[in-house]
Amino acid sequence: MTARPSLIAFRLFGVRLRVDPTWLILAFLVAWSLAYGVFPQLYEGLPVAAYWLMALIAVIGLSLSIIIHEFAHTLVGRAFGMPINQISLFLFGGAAELEEEPDSPKTELLMAIAGPVVSVILGALLLWLAALMGGAAEAETPGPPLAAVVHYLGLLNIVLAVFNMLPAFPLDGGRVFRAILWMAGGDRYAATRTATRGGRIFAVLLMALGGFAALSGALVAGLWWVLIGTFLFGASGAAWRDVQARRFLAGVKVRELMVTDVDAAGAEMSVADFVERLLYPRHHRLFPVLDGERVIGAVSESQVKKLPRQIWAATPVRAIMAAPSVAGSAAPDDDAATALTRLARSPYGGLLVTDNGRLAGLLTFKDVSDYLRVRTLLEG
Ligand SMILES: [Zn+2]
Repeated sequence: MTARPSLIAFRLFGVRLRVDPTWLILAFLVAWSLAYGVFPQLYEGLPVAAYWLMALIAVIGLSLSIIIHEFAHTLVGRAFGMPINQISLFLFGGAAELEEEPDSPKTELLMAIAGPVVSVILGALLLWLAALMGGAAEAETPGPPLAAVVHYLGLLNIVLAVFNMLPAFPLDGGRVFRAILWMAGGDRYAATRTATRGGRIFAVLLMALGGFAALSGALVAGLWWVLIGTFLFGASGAAWRDVQARRFLAGVKVRELMVTDVDAAGAEMSVADFVERLLYPRHHRLFPVLDGERVIGAVSESQVKKLPRQIWAATPVRAIMAAPSVAGSAAPDDDAATALTRLARSPYGGLLVTDNGRLAGLLTFKDVSDYLRVRTLLEG
């Protein structure tokens, strides 16, 4: 697991909920546009602090709305046996992080549609609640300022649902689109190709619209659309490459891609020796640590860097190594496609390949991507 920094992280219903530091940027932009733009227009003459308080409530409500949306995906996914262990709030909203892609179009369809459906229901409930509170400021008899906040949150949930239903993979609508194509044609690969193309087309449209908006005066909003478009473009490209990779790796075992000529460090070797004899001459990113023939850990430049240089000579490698479970490991007969998921999360760009505790080899990201590059060149 790559440990990404989180502002807040806690578990809820067995799911890790984390707030990425980049979420603050989105939260601030939303609060700022509400406190200086939307709310003062609706209610003139309130103190500035009142607008900021309204904006703060709206941002907390927005965070909860996104969490509820992602929980809908997560709970439906889990009901179909999908391992989803983490929900993140980040710069562009939220994401329920899939450990692997759904293996049937029905699972994908239901899981993808659950989020927008829940957002629409939540949005309708909030709009109804706002009406009960006396209505938003546009109403003939405006309700209290809190009604405007609730009304705004209701609209935001509807917008969230509509935006997510754009047929742009990996947005929810793009997943629904892929599931329908997959059901109709029975070919997940072809369905993904079409859906991710849709994703890139929408991404370019968003960027163009954003650029146009920025030039015609809506600078912040326009640049925001450009950023979202860029993110979507990257994400759908990555989703397509992932499916392609899995297709090429089908039937391939870890043993066929691993390197077996591995330089390993001894557990009792000093860090100074390790640096001189292995790290500098070989400059790999990951070295297995052996105790006799058994693999007991892995060591990389990042652990050496944390250790003050004066104690390199007196510290054994054993004292700074990462446990195999932290570095990530695989067995020679594991499917390469399954190992790829673990590899993508490995903090050192490689997995220890062990056979009953003994070192069999290393599976590095570089070797797998070289293999995929050649396959794509000749067959892709
Ligand atoms: Zn969603």
